[in-house]
Amino acid sequence: MAESKVRKAVAKKPVAGTAAVKTAAVKPRKPESHLAMVRRARRINRELAELYPYAHPELDFENPFQLLVATVLSAQTTDLRVNQTTPALFAKYPTPEDMAAANPEELEEVIRPTGFFRNKAKSLIGLSIALRDEFGGEVPGRLADLVTLPGVGRKTANVVLGNAFGVPGITVDTHFGRLARRFAWTTEDDPVKVEAAVAEIFPKSEWTMLSHRVVFHGRRICHSQKPACGACPIAPLCPSYGEGETDPEKARKLLKYEMGGQPGQRLRPPADFPGEAAARADAAVHHGQVADLAVDA
Ligand code: SF4
Repeated sequence: MAESKVRKAVAKKPVAGTAAVKTAAVKPRKPESHLAMVRRARRINRELAELYPYAHPELDFENPFQLLVATVLSAQTTDLRVNQTTPALFAKYPTPEDMAAANPEELEEVIRPTGFFRNKAKSLIGLSIALRDEFGGEVPGRLADLVTLPGVGRKTANVVLGNAFGVPGITVDTHFGRLARRFAWTTEDDPVKVEAAVAEIFPKSEWTMLSHRVVFHGRRICHSQKPACGACPIAPLCPSYGEGETDPEKARKLLKYEMGGQPGQRLRPPADFPGEAAARADAAVHHGQVADLAVDA
């Protein structure tokens, strides 16, 4: 299999065991000024942009309604699982009007693979009714309106705004919150406070892509349980280097998705999709390998 862009980028960059990473690990850290933290944070963003030039939302969608529904379904499961479920869902209920009129049991059956299907079905019917009755059957393009929809919080609203409407938004999911703390951008746990802290560090124009890059890094290298510090290209910029495996060989074995020869999660990318991962994901589905991909929601 041809090496992915990310794998090549990792090969080019210093990894643990090299002088750069050792320096980051052993140097006693002085307290960092706010300005120094902001500079370091922006450098991390630039490095991540180089590492993941094709960072993108990993949910398949063709319009704002599909993205809204897919994002609600993505709670507590992988984007890949959602992408495997939504084609049948949108074939059966293509519009808010169709979903608003759905028989709850039938809808639950279709979305069952995504887990928590009773609550999710309730949210989908509730938000579809609200879209039909209060927003003329259209997904609104304002945060204040989106968060009034059943099952839609700030995270979901920011995903929809950033990716379906081009309105900058910071998406604080479990990966983003964890990495923002590991990067010492914030010490907050509450997603709303994390969002506010990160918004102070980066210009608005960066918010949406920054969110994708950080989530990509969290899914592929800086995992919740076993971060692969020894294979992490931004280790020299990370105050949490050493929280995970530092041995380069062992760390490389922890890499996920394309970093470990695995594809990404998107199965139906748009025509202008910039990466190669989804095409391989499709091939993996046809070869029955998808179970291997559902590793880290
Ligand atoms: S904690 Fe480790 S894997 Fe995560 S960003 Fe820092 S060095 Fe990289």
